[in-house]
Amino acid sequence: MLKIGVLALQGAVQEHIKSLQAPDVETVIVKRTDQLEALDGLVFPGGESTTMRRLVNKYGFYEPLRAFAAAGKPIFGTCAGLILMADRIAQEPQGHLQLMDMNVQRNAFGRQRESFETTLVVKDVAEDIEAVFIRAPLISSTGDDVEVLSSFNGEIVAARQNHLLACSFHPELTDDTRFHQYFVQMVRESKETAPEHTAVT
Ligand code: GLN
Repeated sequence: MLKIGVLALQGAVQEHIKSLQAPDVETVIVKRTDQLEALDGLVFPGGESTTMRRLVNKYGFYEPLRAFAAAGKPIFGTCAGLILMADRIAQEPQGHLQLMDMNVQRNAFGRQRESFETTLVVKDVAEDIEAVFIRAPLISSTGDDVEVLSSFNGEIVAARQNHLLACSFHPELTDDTRFHQYFVQMVRESKETAPEHTAVT
């Protein structure tokens, strides 16, 4: 079985748990750092990135989350979760967890578009992903190791850097689980190729 956690400091946790379901997946609601060790993959939900960062610090998650990523275990960040992962955030002195080589811009789609839905082509996933954007960030540029998976109106809204996956929208808010299942497949492959992840007890 694969164990995939959803960081439950803030945001839509149950919806992610539902979208991650697969016969070989056990889901975990993560509220304490000692739960990370047993996980093969982790989801950072949306919410509000500055609040989430405050809670990450408050509950001692900062270093453990960076160590989780450094161990090569897959992480999937959606919306505020993407902001947490970015190396650089426009108009802010520095990034939060700084896991992915990309620049992000918060609340980037303008007031008139506080929230909207569209259909996206997502590379390696599908050509018709229903995407819900809520005060969403965009990825303004990416490093060489980052693969752009999807763009909307010329702006990058989904990307992958090896074992790290991020998107500006909320795939957990639709019944379409294909993007989550793409992440589940990343976790499967990571576990197969790196059995030492699970060897530590
Ligand atoms: N606007 C939020 C932020 O900057 C993200 C919104 C979301 O996660 N739905 O953190």
